[in-house]
Amino acid sequence: MEFEYTAEQQQLRKTVREFAESEIGPHVLEWDENEIFPLEAIKKAGNLGLLGAIFPEELGGAGLGYIEYAIIIEELARVDPSVGLIVAAHNSLCTNHIYKFGTEAQREKYVTPLAQGKKLGCWSLTEPEAGSDAGGTRTVAAKQGGGWVLNGAKTFTTNGHYADVCVGMAVTDASKKHHGISAFIIEKGTPGFRPGKKENKLGLRASDTSEVVFGDCHVPAENLLGREGEGFVNSLQILDGGRISIASLGLGMAQGAYECSVRYAKQRKQFGKAIAEFQAIQFKLADMATQIEAARLLTYRAAWLADRAIASGDPDARITRESSMAKLYAGEVAVRVANEAVQIHGGYGFTKDYPAEKFYRDVKLCTIGEGTSEIQRLVIARQLLGK
Ligand SMILES: Cc1cc2nc3c(=O)[nH]c(=O)nc-3n(C[C@H](O)[C@H](O)[C@H](O)COP(=O)(O)OP(=O)(O)OC[C@H]3O[C@@H](n4cnc5c(N)ncnc54)[C@H](O)[C@@H]3O)c2cc1C
Repeated sequence: MEFEYTAEQQQLRKTVREFAESEIGPHVLEWDENEIFPLEAIKKAGNLGLLGAIFPEELGGAGLGYIEYAIIIEELARVDPSVGLIVAAHNSLCTNHIYKFGTEAQREKYVTPLAQGKKLGCWSLTEPEAGSDAGGTRTVAAKQGGGWVLNGAKTFTTNGHYADVCVGMAVTDASKKHHGISAFIIEKGTPGFRPGKKENKLGLRASDTSEVVFGDCHVPAENLLGREGEGFVNSLQILDGGRISIASLGLGMAQGAYECSVRYAKQRKQFGKAIAEFQAIQFKLADMATQIEAARLLTYRAAWLADRAIASGDPDARITRESSMAKLYAGEVAVRVANEAVQIHGGYGFTKDYPAEKFYRDVKLCTIGEGTSEIQRLVIARQLLGK
């Protein structure tokens, strides 16, 4: 067993940390308060290769693996989880769906500019009536004139207003249920395709979460992504990788909340001494650090397995159980750690003067997005019971 990051991975962490602290850190509060989408920072992240982390260099990517990708998302989330989420939805959902299931022509046309950071992507599975039960998709795509016409609406799409390329799921044959849902690539500007209502959220307020609407939206036949009817099944595979990014997001937030708690505990004095001198506070910090470490091990093991699955060349290699476990555990640890971070800050933790308040709000997404904690438990149990 090997628990060491390579020199390159350590250097990558340092580079992303410096970028996050210098380019993002000073703006985090303002972006959150005013729901400002950090377009310039995302462009700079693109220049660093962070928008193409897991894609080969010949397609404009950085040619890195899932371990490096987890490092990137963790370090971004440690400073601003909104930026982490924007980068995650772009990489492991939208671009990866096209990379994994697209034709050579689709990869060249879409993956290259997405991986280079010249375009931004979004991925639309969830609908108002189809959340955890995504197989209940109602958006439809009908064959017409050699292409497809999409009608329906998606909800909660990360990057919905800013994406140039959307991967959207729609029913192509209702009689086939889960095997009657297909994926499509829809470009911004396609008539009948528009972003809808932007959500006013509890946290992650600098990220954009929106409806996307299809009203008689014509897409050419070549924009069918993957085999007809396999869009839902392919989405589940995409979520295996996506869940590693949400685990990393939770890990980064937990790490950020823990670090600001240590700083505060050393500096805040009550009863004539730093609160870090009180055993009750020390125990909280010890529990936080221990849980973060356990979450880190699960997350990076899932990332390592994802890299091994890719290296094996076996298209059927799955990491469903491990990525769900990492997402479930890291997400729930992040919520607990952020809760304790506010507690350690006392009344000041309830104000926007310290980062604990924002972590407390942002972190809740980790037990909801890309499958709620309840759904992760269902997925894990199914794997355990061989169902
Ligand atoms: C900030 C944010 C960003 C998002 N980004 C995207 C995105 O980019 N693309 C995208 O497609 N979606 C996205 N989502 C949607 C997200 O994946 C869904 O919100 C999530 O899957 C849950 O669906 P729902 O909100 O409809 O909740 P519901 O499915 O209605 O669940 C409500 C409650 O019921 C529970 N529940 C449901 N079914 C069961 C069951 N069988 N057993 C036990 N409990 C159950 C759930 O766990 C939850 O507690 C995003 C959501 C948020 C908040």
